[in-house]
Amino acid sequence: MEKKDIDWSSLGFGYMKTDKRYVSNYKDGAWDNGVLTDDDQVTISECACVLQYAQTCFEGLKAYTTEDGKIVCFRPDLNAARMSDTCKRLEMPVFPEDRFVQAVVDTVKANAAYVPPFGSGATLYIRPYMFGSDAIIGVKPANEYQFRVFTTPVGPYFKGGAKPITIRVTDFDRAAPHGTGHIKAGLNYAMSLHAIVDAHNQGYAENMYLDAATRTKVEETGGANFLFVTKDGTVVTPKSDSILPSITRRSLMYVAEHILGMKVEHREVYFDEVKDFAECGLCGTAAVISPVGKIVDHGKEICLPSGMDEMGPVTKKLYDTLTGIQMGRMEAPEGWIKVIE
Ligand SMILES: *Cc1c(COP(=O)(O)O)cnc(C)c1O
Repeated sequence: MEKKDIDWSSLGFGYMKTDKRYVSNYKDGAWDNGVLTDDDQVTISECACVLQYAQTCFEGLKAYTTEDGKIVCFRPDLNAARMSDTCKRLEMPVFPEDRFVQAVVDTVKANAAYVPPFGSGATLYIRPYMFGSDAIIGVKPANEYQFRVFTTPVGPYFKGGAKPITIRVTDFDRAAPHGTGHIKAGLNYAMSLHAIVDAHNQGYAENMYLDAATRTKVEETGGANFLFVTKDGTVVTPKSDSILPSITRRSLMYVAEHILGMKVEHREVYFDEVKDFAECGLCGTAAVISPVGKIVDHGKEICLPSGMDEMGPVTKKLYDTLTGIQMGRMEAPEGWIKVIE
């Protein structure tokens, strides 16, 4: 297959229209068979539930080329399962999980010419999503839905190495107890836009959100989970019902415990403990791990001992191991790598 003439190394994280996308419609209580289409436009009622009441959710994963030239993606079954959980909480119909994975595979296959070559650092980002599409004015769930999958090539997250970032503790809340923080709903992002723009204006890369009820415990950032390393080398991630269960974070914890033989803890993390940690990183599909060098709490600086020049040693080991598994340099745990072609 002939690759598109794209300068892979100059790609950023932006949308580029690719050849095909997958669309399935839900009507009269059932999903249709679904198709791959050239049409990148969505036409819906001006009163569609998604437009009025934000009934929409999404997933995000990547396809990439491994060292031996295969196109693969990483644990798409977990994205399928998470989207099911999200749909149930938003009163949306579940798109069957096996069909979700097949739709991802079919969409990537149809856009194989856009999957960046091995070594470019770039990947094909995959965006499955669903929204309530029929006209709803009284507040209730839609009757009709559209499930779509599009892809877009994106550049390496870190150009010229992963530099530690500075983040701030924000006074805004991301998720209420018993709210929607644990699901991948568009609404969680709509309400985070002001907080992130404000953080950027103040010179911070991200917001650290604390638990909304007591403001004493670490939750996550707008789009990534925290991972900390203690001074004696234990990997700690915050536990809370209002944190989005990151697939990257769960995979890193598995790698730490079962492959690297490290001690891991998934527990509540009090903000007061943060000053005692040796390393801090943010976990998500886009970057795998972004190292955090400094956390600013209302003018008070917490400088991680790992510093502002490079990833901490434990974070780096976790990063190298997970990306080694993803890229096919190391053996993957059963079922982690889905070969597309
Ligand atoms: C998507 C997301 C993450 C990262 O999840 P991955 O499955 O690792 O990509 C973390 N936090 C939030 C709020 C998210 O929406």
